[in-house]
Amino acid sequence: MLDVALLSVLLVAIAIGYGLGYHQAGRRRHRSQPPSAPSQALSRDYFVGLNYLLNEQPDEAINTFINVLAVNSDTVDTHIALGKLFRARGEADKAVSIHQNLLARPALSQHTNEQIQLELARDFMALGVHDRAQRLLNTLLEHSSNDELRYAAKQLLVDLLEREKAWHQALEVIQPLFKQHPKLRRPAAHWLCELAIEEISEASRALAKKHLKKALQLDESCVRATLLLAELEMDNGHYGRAIGRLDNVPRQELAHIPTMLPALKNAYLRRNDEAGFEAHLYRLLEQAPYTSIIIALGQLVHQRDGVDKAIELVGERLRAAPSLGGLDYLIDLYIESQRLNGKSSPDTRLLLLKHHTDALLLNRTRHRCRHCGFASDALQWQCPSCRYWGTIKPVIGVEGE
Ligand SMILES: [Zn+2]
Repeated sequence: MLDVALLSVLLVAIAIGYGLGYHQAGRRRHRSQPPSAPSQALSRDYFVGLNYLLNEQPDEAINTFINVLAVNSDTVDTHIALGKLFRARGEADKAVSIHQNLLARPALSQHTNEQIQLELARDFMALGVHDRAQRLLNTLLEHSSNDELRYAAKQLLVDLLEREKAWHQALEVIQPLFKQHPKLRRPAAHWLCELAIEEISEASRALAKKHLKKALQLDESCVRATLLLAELEMDNGHYGRAIGRLDNVPRQELAHIPTMLPALKNAYLRRNDEAGFEAHLYRLLEQAPYTSIIIALGQLVHQRDGVDKAIELVGERLRAAPSLGGLDYLIDLYIESQRLNGKSSPDTRLLLLKHHTDALLLNRTRHRCRHCGFASDALQWQCPSCRYWGTIKPVIGVEGE
């Protein structure tokens, strides 16, 4: 079976074959003579390369192709494609030598030269040699007047600065792009949150607050900034203000209600305002019937009015919005109720049910990236798989909220 890498080599091979044929035909046209001995050798090497490829020996095939392919304006794209191929195969060092070899040719047009520099920067990124990649990108941005290339270079630079956690520099590069690319506001808002967290740990809360407010100006749906602002209010003993901040979360992103619930509960508890918390939970339930809200309400009623009232409430709410987590909690309440009613041990059928819901809950995915599907137990603000910001959210539905 040909794998993906092999298929890419095959595509490059076709391009080379086309290039060679074109070149030789051109030569014949100009000289009106049969193909010369070297070009016959080229063709022979080309077929040797193809043979390697068909025998699933891509390394040998690539080396043969590179050897037969002289660098000229017709073949430069193929060389670049080969470089990309090496990088995709995890052999960025080979890509570097191909691209450096290309740059050493004096006859390249400025555009081609810049294109190769961009590829070389990508190679260095892949090798983790960030300083060399950064120098190349900065030079490109200084000299290039090609908009498309400049944008690609800026994207790469931003990616690099993000990996280096150089948030200030990343923000500087990205800011001029907002107008044309509004989607970039979201990662920028998260970088401001990162800066705010750094400031909080250095006890500079005023600066942290400034960063967070700016984050919300950039992206009003940035739940993370709201949560951090609420945290700052809590630390200052401003529980009412913290609640006010958290009240914005459902408007920003309904799916993040479960994320902010612990902070909301904490703020009301510190204020000694159980009735306020209960009213708030009912208000949230109207917006989204999530399991976390039902359970929080159940716990509150359980503590205040007893287990049977809690069973009544949770049972009724779960009929409208059934979920595995809710069922598990309901079983806990039933077991507790039987214990209080003097049963020495709970009903075995209940215990069996509990055993099943526990097992199912153990394997469930709590958070998932809405962009790439990456599953994560804890909430992460940047997806480790696709590197998008703010795309991991609590799982909603029967298995989740
Ligand atoms: Zn993702």
